[in-house]
Amino acid sequence: MGLTHSSTGLGAVDSTLVIQKTSPGQRVIALAGNPNVGKSTLFNALTGMNQHTGNWPGKTVTNAQGRCAHDGQEYILVDLPGTYSLMAHSAEEEVARNFICFGSPDAVAVVCDATCLERNMNLVLQTLELTGRAVVCVNLMDEAKRKGIHIDLKLLSKRLGVPVVGTVARKKRSLNAFLSALDTAIQAEAPGPVAIPYPQRMEQALSALTPLLEERCGGRLNPRWLALKLLEGDEALLEEAGRFLNWELTADEALMEQAREQRQELERWGFTADRLRDFMVSALVSQAEGLCRGAVRYEKDGYDQTDRQLDRILTSKSTGYPLMIALLAAVFWLTIVGANYPSQLLSQALFRLQDRLSALFAFFHAPAWLHGALVLGVYRVLAWVVSVMLPPMAIFFPLFTLLEDAGYLPRIAYNLDRPFQKCSACGKQALTMCMGFGCNAAGVVGCRIIDSPRERLLAILTNNFVPCNGRFPTLIAILTMFFVGTAGGLGSSLLSALLLTLVILLGVGLTFAATRLLSATVLRGVPSSFTLELPPYRKPQVGRVIVRSIFDRTLFVLGRAAAVAAPAGLLIWLMANVTVGGATLLTHCAGFLDPFARLMGLDGVILMAFILGFPANEIVVPIILMAYLSQGALLEMDSLAEMRALFLANGWTWVTAVNVMLFSLMHWPCSTTLLTIRKETGSWKWTALAAALPTAAGVGACMIFTALARLVGG
Ligand code: GDP
Repeated sequence: MGLTHSSTGLGAVDSTLVIQKTSPGQRVIALAGNPNVGKSTLFNALTGMNQHTGNWPGKTVTNAQGRCAHDGQEYILVDLPGTYSLMAHSAEEEVARNFICFGSPDAVAVVCDATCLERNMNLVLQTLELTGRAVVCVNLMDEAKRKGIHIDLKLLSKRLGVPVVGTVARKKRSLNAFLSALDTAIQAEAPGPVAIPYPQRMEQALSALTPLLEERCGGRLNPRWLALKLLEGDEALLEEAGRFLNWELTADEALMEQAREQRQELERWGFTADRLRDFMVSALVSQAEGLCRGAVRYEKDGYDQTDRQLDRILTSKSTGYPLMIALLAAVFWLTIVGANYPSQLLSQALFRLQDRLSALFAFFHAPAWLHGALVLGVYRVLAWVVSVMLPPMAIFFPLFTLLEDAGYLPRIAYNLDRPFQKCSACGKQALTMCMGFGCNAAGVVGCRIIDSPRERLLAILTNNFVPCNGRFPTLIAILTMFFVGTAGGLGSSLLSALLLTLVILLGVGLTFAATRLLSATVLRGVPSSFTLELPPYRKPQVGRVIVRSIFDRTLFVLGRAAAVAAPAGLLIWLMANVTVGGATLLTHCAGFLDPFARLMGLDGVILMAFILGFPANEIVVPIILMAYLSQGALLEMDSLAEMRALFLANGWTWVTAVNVMLFSLMHWPCSTTLLTIRKETGSWKWTALAAALPTAAGVGACMIFTALARLVGG
């Protein structure tokens, strides 16, 4: 789900990478690799950091750097976005390529997937064309072994001329060999870059150009590689190379003349600009084949039979959708059932503590306003946030992460590809939508996996229609209070899960509708095609998933909620206790909003809670509670039944409950998400649209529902 400090924009390092060395002896290592080869797992294991990992290609969209040391040598590891090649077809490839070429890393480590090594060799060879100071890390050796694939690492190393080590990134112990190989690569004399043999005509053109580049490259760039780029006419890259070498290549008449001549000569022989890349790729492919011949051995045929059978069930037209919905409902059911009891225990404990705190304040004869502000204001809201949010999150996040780690997310994207195509959008939007379930800000950053700018915008603008984790507790609490009953039992928990699934499906439906609307109006265009890789199913690391999702995600969200809830509690308490003109500020504000809120089937307090909840959706219900409680009804909120009684006493009906859920599903994104949208789109106009679209939908839906309910006498 990608809910980490980096995915929410905190601490993420972008394409303009600044390496912060704290001592001159530190060496910078670029970690490159195809998507989903375990690069982030390796990075995390070595640096102790928590970059997002998951079994689907494309989740690492930002660079990160971390430190590690081995035998007294300190390293700064830079985790680059996953790329299949360095020919820069996409923004990620450009970031990775530019860092390897112009970021002056001391060495490059190319992480490969041992179960499909030949395909990964493409990137290895392209890297070795650039620099000989490299290490090849063949990861997922355990998977390869399980699938009966044998890899002769020594032979490969001999053929490539650089160290080749096998690793299991999930097992930290296996990484020593990798670090030792890095030490060797750094200390030993680096072999020169590899020269991939290209067709004879291309070789002739390269020999004509290379000598003109040799001197200016001065060992900082491989002249043969730069000559290739000159033949390709890759302008953006040439400009970048010019800046790096302090030499404006494109202004060098003699060089440009020679490049033009060689290109014309090549075209005469059928090597047109378009086909040149094809020839380069073919050369790489056949070189990779040659390298792996004899070095990679398959013990059994059809080793991915089980994966294929599973895929047939999980992605087929007849079973794919029902299973997807059933899995979603099962996750919700487990969350609701599992959270119920601990939630009650927590709230009892926390409210007992509130009594103790009150007694303590009384013992010290603290003034009533201080007790009110700190205990009844700040503490009570915090207690609610913790008791209601912690248990469901501690269950939902690990469950979702297990599905992600097992490789189910790309199957969802595959299933939803067709409906997204129908909305003129990209199927990868399904992945970013799934990330939105955790945190919309993370979902928005994740949209970088979509290459077409139009489709990326569509995904960004509509991400907020799926409820993030901050909104789940609100939805679950209201569903349980008003539609299922608070008595508990199997029937009611099943019903809650079913209703929640329906609400989520409504969110997904709204995502489709909004995407379609946008692509028929301001973001018109045809959907692009894309290749979605279905990664092999992997056994998730249950222990690690639980620990990481509790520490990185649950506590992260909870911390964010608590950080906002505490001052919000104080603010509400002040608003409820500061009087102006005979009425409290709260009454004034709620009264001002009330007429409009009534049209939406809400009340002024609820609307104000949504507005004050702008920093974090998690605090909407606590604010409502605080506001109602401060207006006289002094109840101890230690169960949903009492909460329901309080809401009913404040005029709630089932219509109010539905409207709160509708508005929770559709209103402006929280401040973090909006700032992320601004950062990702670079435009306030799109940011405003991202806020206006769900808000208009929410206001409209609530008004229509209220009008209909009044018509039928609700
Ligand atoms: P990245 O896209 O290259 O950064 O890949 P990740 O680090 O996110 O890993 C992709 C998936 O492979 C995750 O589910 C990892 O837990 C899993 N994984 C990574 N390394 C290994 C390994 O050596 N063995 C096994 N069995 N799984 C691994």
